[in-house]
Amino acid sequence: MVDVLVIGGGIAGVSIACELAADAQVILLEAEPELARHTTGRSAAIYAPTYGPPTVRQLTRESEPLFGDGVLTPHPTLWLALDDDGVDHLRELPVEPLTPREAVELCPPLRPPLAVAIDTSCMDIDVMALHARYVRGLHERGGTIHRNARVTELRRDGGGWVVNGIRTDVVVNAAGAWADELAALAGVPTIGLRPMRRTIALARATVDPAWPLVSDVVDTFYFRPESGHLLISPADETPSEPCDAKPDEVDVAIALDRVNAVTTLNLRSVHTAWAGLRSFVADREPVVGAWPDHPGFVFYAGQGGYGIQMAPALARTGADIILGRVPPSPIMSPR
Ligand SMILES: Cc1cc2nc3c(=O)[nH]c(=O)nc-3n(C[C@H](O)[C@H](O)[C@H](O)COP(=O)(O)OP(=O)(O)OC[C@H]3O[C@@H](n4cnc5c(N)ncnc54)[C@H](O)[C@@H]3O)c2cc1C
Repeated sequence: MVDVLVIGGGIAGVSIACELAADAQVILLEAEPELARHTTGRSAAIYAPTYGPPTVRQLTRESEPLFGDGVLTPHPTLWLALDDDGVDHLRELPVEPLTPREAVELCPPLRPPLAVAIDTSCMDIDVMALHARYVRGLHERGGTIHRNARVTELRRDGGGWVVNGIRTDVVVNAAGAWADELAALAGVPTIGLRPMRRTIALARATVDPAWPLVSDVVDTFYFRPESGHLLISPADETPSEPCDAKPDEVDVAIALDRVNAVTTLNLRSVHTAWAGLRSFVADREPVVGAWPDHPGFVFYAGQGGYGIQMAPALARTGADIILGRVPPSPIMSPR
């Protein structure tokens, strides 16, 4: 018997479990031998409060003071506009315009773009430190984590649920790309979650760690210095089944081409590459709550490409909703 059972040990699962454990007895089940092996361990680790749909941006701003010491490091972003469409997008962002020459001073290999702005609200996130802080907090609050514990049994039992033989009042489905598979296993309507593969590579290059993150404002690539290499992404969104995502060499080649087109770096090879699944519902806002006809089975899913940057505020709000301290959010309820 437990009050709340959380499925998934990525950032979503550990953050909501930790917040809930302040007021409830919590068990977390993770399928893999280690936590954070899937999307959480593969992110670009960027905090960008100007990125994403409205609720995501608000939660990201609210998260900033909640990350704790040493997790965020300021790292400005240059948003590039490469055509008229980009210029229109750039005008909508609350950022400071720069001249192309000023941008090149900040990142000398950059070819002067059509238009550019600097976003000083962006930061790097120490994802593993944040994840570890929530794991520690969960343990300190009496919660338990079981690894190698893939959920294969999930059924209603009176007013509660049975999950792998454990009886619980509330199931929190924080299974990332697998959240709709878990809903189907529970006999609960799905939320139309779409996992999309995104690729990152570390290119061999001579880099200056002081360079900003450089991103196309319409999201066709980004790059930034990372551990003596250049982290590059083609900002791909390839629909995928829930799986252990692998990088496709075509996507890596596209990333190299796009970064070479806007810089003089002449990148030719990569040191390593990886991919992960960013999972979205149609409006790209997160989903927190239960279907009205299926109480006690709570989705905590659809974090898309923003699950790290908004994790602290989303987990606080999510715990308030799940424990009935605030009403469900119309924007984030299953829909
Ligand atoms: C390339 C890339 C770059 C990104 N960059 C950023 C960024 O810069 N900033 C940002 O904020 N976000 C970024 N994101 C998004 C962010 O990483 C995700 O939103 C976040 O990690 C999602 O966390 P999660 O816990 O929902 O999913 P996951 O980390 O995938 O965790 C889900 C867990 O559920 C477990 N699970 C699944 N099925 C079961 C089962 N049946 N039983 C038990 N456990 C199960 C899985 O094993 C997994 O560990 C990026 C993502 C990618 C792929």
